[in-house]
Amino acid sequence: MINNYKKIVIKIGSSSIINSRNKKINSKWMEVFCKDVAKIHKNSKIVIVCSGAIALGSNLIKKNKSLRKLEDKQAAASVGQIELAHQWRQNLKKYKINVAQVLLTLEDSEVRRRYLNARKTMNSLLANEIIPVINENDTVATEEIKYGDNDRLAARVSQMIDADLLILLSDIDGLYDKNPVKYKSAKKINEVFKINKSIESMANSQTSSLGSGGMVTKIWAAKICMNNGCNTIITNSNKSKPLISISNENSTIFHAIKNPSSSRKQWLLNHLHESGFIKIDEGAYKAILNNKSLLPAGVIEIGGKFNRGDIISVYHAKKEKVAIGISAYDINEAKKIIGKKSKEISIILGYEGRDEIIHKDDLVITV
Ligand code: GLU
Repeated sequence: MINNYKKIVIKIGSSSIINSRNKKINSKWMEVFCKDVAKIHKNSKIVIVCSGAIALGSNLIKKNKSLRKLEDKQAAASVGQIELAHQWRQNLKKYKINVAQVLLTLEDSEVRRRYLNARKTMNSLLANEIIPVINENDTVATEEIKYGDNDRLAARVSQMIDADLLILLSDIDGLYDKNPVKYKSAKKINEVFKINKSIESMANSQTSSLGSGGMVTKIWAAKICMNNGCNTIITNSNKSKPLISISNENSTIFHAIKNPSSSRKQWLLNHLHESGFIKIDEGAYKAILNNKSLLPAGVIEIGGKFNRGDIISVYHAKKEKVAIGISAYDINEAKKIIGKKSKEISIILGYEGRDEIIHKDDLVITV
C-alpha cells in the first residue's frame, strides 16, 4: 500500500519502541522495522519521528519508579534521547544509512521564520539521503509551550517537508467505531475522507497504554495532513513487516483533500498555539466568507494576550470558531479600535495603522 509514496514520515509511539515489561528498547522490533526502512529508503525519502525518550530515561534514572516533577522528566528525556539516537544509528548503520537527530520545540513549527528555517535543514538532510530522527526537545520544552504528543509533531513535520504520507505506528491497527477492547462487535474503519464529529467521537473512546496521545491526537494529526495534501495511515506496529505489509485490512487510511490552499494559509490553518481570540458580528462574518478582510467595525469582543503578527482565533458571536488569522494589531491597540470605523483608527491610535484587524491574505476560514 505504501509503494507509490515519495516522502514518508513515520511516527513511532512509545508503545512500539519500548518494551512495556522492562521499559527498555524493544530491540527485536527495531531490527525488523529497520529492515523495512532500508527497503523503502531505496525509492522514497524517509523521516522518523520517534517517542520514548522520557519512558526510556525514567527507567535509567529511577528504576521502576514513576517521575512526577517536570524537571525530573526533562532530565529523563535527555538521558533517554541519547540512548534512542544511539539505537537508531546502530540499527541503520547495518544498511549503510546515515541518521541525524533533530529535536524540535513547538515554536519551530509555529513561528513562521523558524518553521521555514527548520524546513531548509530538513530538506538538506533529505537531499543527502540522511534519515532525520525527530523528537520533541522535551528537556527544554515546558508544559504550556509543548506539542506534548508526537502525533501532531509528526503532522507538522509532514507539512514542513511536503510529505505525501504520514504513518502513525501504534498498538492498534486503526480507528474503530467503538473501543475494541471493551466491545467485541467494534469494527475497524478502513478509509476516512472527512473528519467529522462522528469520527472524532470514535477516537474519544480509544486510548493507548504508554504514549501520551491515544487516538484523539492521531485524528488531529490526520486532520492537519489532510489539509496539506498528505495521506495518513494508522496501523499496528506489531507485524513481521511493519511497513511493507500495510494493507487495507490492517490499517485506517485518511485521504488528503484534493485542493489544498496556499502554503502560507495551510501553515496558518494547522497552527497549534493561538495567542488570543476575537468575536465578530454577523455582518463581519458574511464579509469574511466573501473573501473580505476583517475590519474593526465588526468586532464585538477581544481576549487573550497577543502582539502584532500573532495568530488569533475568530469566533462568530453566536457560533463556534469560524476562522484563524494573523492580527495586524496588538491586543491593547485592538481593544481601542473595535467597533470603530477604519477611518477613525488614526485619530484613536495617533498614527496611521492598517484598515483591517486581519487582512484577507492572513485569514483562513475554518467552517
Ligand atoms: N516526546 C515524548 C518522548 O519522547 C513522547 C511524546 C508522545 O508520547 O507522543 O518521550
